[in-house]
Amino acid sequence: MCSRANGCLRSCTGLWGYNVGHSSQEQELSKILVETPVQDDTKTANDLSPIQAQRSWDRQAEDNVVDRLERIGLMAPRGEVDKVLETVVNNLEVTNNIDVDPEVRCRVMMTSTLESFTVGHTVVLSRGLIDVLPDEASLATMIAHELGHVVLGHRLDSSYAFFDQLLIDDKETFRHFGFARTPDEERAANTRAMQILNNSPYKNQLGNAGLFLAALTTREKEIPNLISPHLGDRVPVIGDLRSSMPVDQKQNPQAIVALPIGGRVKLDSWNDKLDLIKSKPVGTVAEREKMPFEVTPFMPYLMRYGTETSKPIAASAAAPSDPKTGEAAPGKP
Ligand SMILES: [Zn+2]
Repeated sequence: MCSRANGCLRSCTGLWGYNVGHSSQEQELSKILVETPVQDDTKTANDLSPIQAQRSWDRQAEDNVVDRLERIGLMAPRGEVDKVLETVVNNLEVTNNIDVDPEVRCRVMMTSTLESFTVGHTVVLSRGLIDVLPDEASLATMIAHELGHVVLGHRLDSSYAFFDQLLIDDKETFRHFGFARTPDEERAANTRAMQILNNSPYKNQLGNAGLFLAALTTREKEIPNLISPHLGDRVPVIGDLRSSMPVDQKQNPQAIVALPIGGRVKLDSWNDKLDLIKSKPVGTVAEREKMPFEVTPFMPYLMRYGTETSKPIAASAAAPSDPKTGEAAPGKP
């Protein structure tokens, strides 16, 4: 990743995937399973209707793709960040009476390019995108767009359900997979996203999302690589949102319109696990301390490699987060 700030170039190369755990599927043959007595439920209604069969076929394709991306270290293993994203999905679904089957899941792609896409009913946001979003409402805006694709039934190529479609060289991954949508689909998803957001609990907090998109548009010439997606679509520019932003927020000097790369998601390069950074509030932020779309200076934090129980005493660790109040949610910059 790299960024240009005040004429000087700052860059940072991140390596990860030293010991990527091998993903869940395809290992069934090597597992020893002791068979337990099976209750045969064929008398109850568990045959698949044609629609259900189609859905489970699509889900198979989706699982295969996600699994493949995880095995080569492009997709983070399931973790805490996914759950935060899924909470936002749930907030949007409940308030809009959206009931999709199979349920919508979220995953994080490891790259720092700002992009998002859906693989079937799996919403994927890049690590870089989650980093730079200023608050939970802006995160909801990105997710609402992807949820729009899901609700509108924009599908994944179901031939990925055949395993041989995934037997590719790792280096070919970016060329083989492509989840970008057509301009028509993008427009439709933006319109649907606006409807979803206007019914959601975030409807009065969308000012920052508007400012974020405006800031991104202003900076896009300076950060061409950062905004060019590898697999999905670039950050959707939802026009209605920019026009609806309140005037007073434009002048608030404390408003942070975008965070730096590496400002939110913490990466364990050993096993690719992602977590949200928990730090103490920093107080008043000076103008030059804001680093929208820039690179966070990297401070290595060393700890002993050992058992899970020997947790280091992190200087930056805040009080344990309460999942109910959403303390861990990326809503509090
Ligand atoms: Zn899209």
